[in-house]
Amino acid sequence: MAQKRGLLLVMTGASGVGKGTIRQELEKTEDYYYSISWTTRESRPGEENGVHYFFKTRDEFEAEIHSGLGFLEHAEFVGNHYGTPRAAVEEQLSQGRNVLLEIEVQGAMQVKKAMDDAILIFIMPPSLTELKNRLVGRATEPLEKIEKRLSKARGEILMAHEFKYCVLNDNVERAVQDIQAIIRAERLSAQRL
Ligand code: 5GP
Repeated sequence: MAQKRGLLLVMTGASGVGKGTIRQELEKTEDYYYSISWTTRESRPGEENGVHYFFKTRDEFEAEIHSGLGFLEHAEFVGNHYGTPRAAVEEQLSQGRNVLLEIEVQGAMQVKKAMDDAILIFIMPPSLTELKNRLVGRATEPLEKIEKRLSKARGEILMAHEFKYCVLNDNVERAVQDIQAIIRAERLSAQRL
């Protein structure tokens, strides 16, 4: 019998909404392959190449866009490129492994158009004020860049209706439980029990 494809889970939402924290919590109960993105952004203290991102030059990134397999999706976000390398995702899905992407909204829209069976989950912040507090609290960037991320977030939140699921992250534990319920329901409906 042919191997069943894995589920492609896409977690999207504004920068600072808590996608990374939710992912780390989900990892404790769910088995999935986390796709490590390429980015042209500079690494932040504590970030490792090949663990948090593959850090690339703009030339390397642009060459990959035009190469054969290239990216499943890619987008520019506040001055830097970000993209999901296609090959690893395809390989894992075809081996029956679930795959998780943690990406911004333009990229998630590209996946929505390209992959019918992708499970798209939008993470909603409790408020813009709370989002700002989280970005400022993270203290990884100057205020000017935080302002850019916030102004981007306003537009991103207006896109929430484009995604099948919307999860409010006012409490990480509850947000994780909501996503676990989504995964269970999707597994059932795809008969991938
Ligand atoms: P950061 O610079 O804070 O690490 O990421 C900025 C935004 O880009 C976040 O919303 C993050 O989820 C998103 N992002 C990370 N990797 C990718 C990717 O491969 N593609 C897209 N479209 N967005 C990504």
